Amino acid sequence: MTALLHLIGVGQRYGTGEAAVTALDDVDLEVAAGELVAVMGASGSGKSSLLTVAGGLTRPTSGEVLIDGVALGSLSAKRMAALRRTTLGFVFQDYNLVPTLTAVENVGLPLELDGWPRRQVRRAALDALASVELSDRTGSYPDDLSGGQQQRVAIARAVVGPRRLILADEPTGALDSQTGETVLRMLRGRVDAGAGGILVTHDARHAAWADRIVFLRDGRIIDQRRAPQPESLLAGHR
Ligand code: ADP
Ligand code: MG
Repeated sequence: MTALLHLIGVGQRYGTGEAAVTALDDVDLEVAAGELVAVMGASGSGKSSLLTVAGGLTRPTSGEVLIDGVALGSLSAKRMAALRRTTLGFVFQDYNLVPTLTAVENVGLPLELDGWPRRQVRRAALDALASVELSDRTGSYPDDLSGGQQQRVAIARAVVGPRRLILADEPTGALDSQTGETVLRMLRGRVDAGAGGILVTHDARHAAWADRIVFLRDGRIIDQRRAPQPESLLAGHR
């Protein structure tokens, strides 16, 4: 079966000559539909570079990125933009909400811009807000929401609609622990419903929500393992 996401020998270099930095070095990675992969590694190990390349925000210096078996390098700019809007969900630490729009309007904005019919926009936005446990604040304006609630609205906006590949870069970093867990539960739910996901995190407890953990060091995958299941974590204590 074709992997949802397939990185083949991906390299990413920034700069040239003496100043060149190798952020990714010959990375091979597959993510299947229904699979959540956690990526862990020290600061500067290439985690964010991996996500931006995987999501087609940056073209890698070498190697290939395939989504559904289609090489991103072969897509026109227009088709790449369409793929980003319809298939990919990026959860970054970017919480720019439009202050004059309610939560449900903010979340529906990407779909509205994409020309979806009004009713469907609203339904998808309400679903996304429910997935981050904000069904009771759909009509609120950003200024009337707490910081954590605003962050969850932004995350709902990032995953609204039928995204099949969700790329999350330390989404829980700036969140309080309860909000962080809500976001992990949402990610896990989307993946269990058939999406694929990559979760960059430096918290082993968060990585435990994934099916597989990939360890990066100096731009290379140095280890991969299945995430410990709650069962096996408990086994030693019985
Ligand atoms: P992480 O997310 O694990 O902290 P990054 O992918 O952000 O790692 O960075 C990997 C390496 O690439 C680091 O050495 C970083 O300084 C460098 N780097 C990242 N982005 C750029 C850029 N736009 N220009 C130059 N160097 C960069
Ligand atoms: Mg980073």
